[in-house]
Amino acid sequence: MTRAGIGYDCHRLADGRRLVIGGVEIPHERGLDGHSDSDVLAHAVIDALLGAAGLGDIGEHFPDTDERWRDADSIVLLEAVVGMVGATGLEVENVDCTVMIEAPKIAPHRQAIRASLARALGLEAASVNVKATTGERIGFVGRGEGVAALAVASLTAAG
Ligand code: MG
Repeated sequence: MTRAGIGYDCHRLADGRRLVIGGVEIPHERGLDGHSDSDVLAHAVIDALLGAAGLGDIGEHFPDTDERWRDADSIVLLEAVVGMVGATGLEVENVDCTVMIEAPKIAPHRQAIRASLARALGLEAASVNVKATTGERIGFVGRGEGVAALAVASLTAAG
């Protein structure tokens, strides 16, 4: 049996913030605003995993009203969620994701992001796919106001 889950997240781009995507800090004049490190891709992957396991959503497990998660490293949160998934007797089979960002280009960082997510997920890089697209200069992504990410995860019974 395979279980699938979907995750979506978006964060506003702001001055004086770091741009962290899938655990990789990307040099840019603006970064993602929010309570944690605001790693939009890690958050989408977390929700895909929680969804596939039937474990609710990221806000339920790591509320942004909780000071423990201020400036939290979202890769650490992702690792915690992989542990929660494992505790249900499931294991992650693969993850696919898309980052929607106008600038900067993700392509030069794609393999680093893939390796970072694979490490946190306990998977080979071949089981993690990272895609990126722009907003075609329309909408909040296209105007450079924010970054969004989508992820799909599949889980199977651990064996
Ligand atoms: Mg988020």
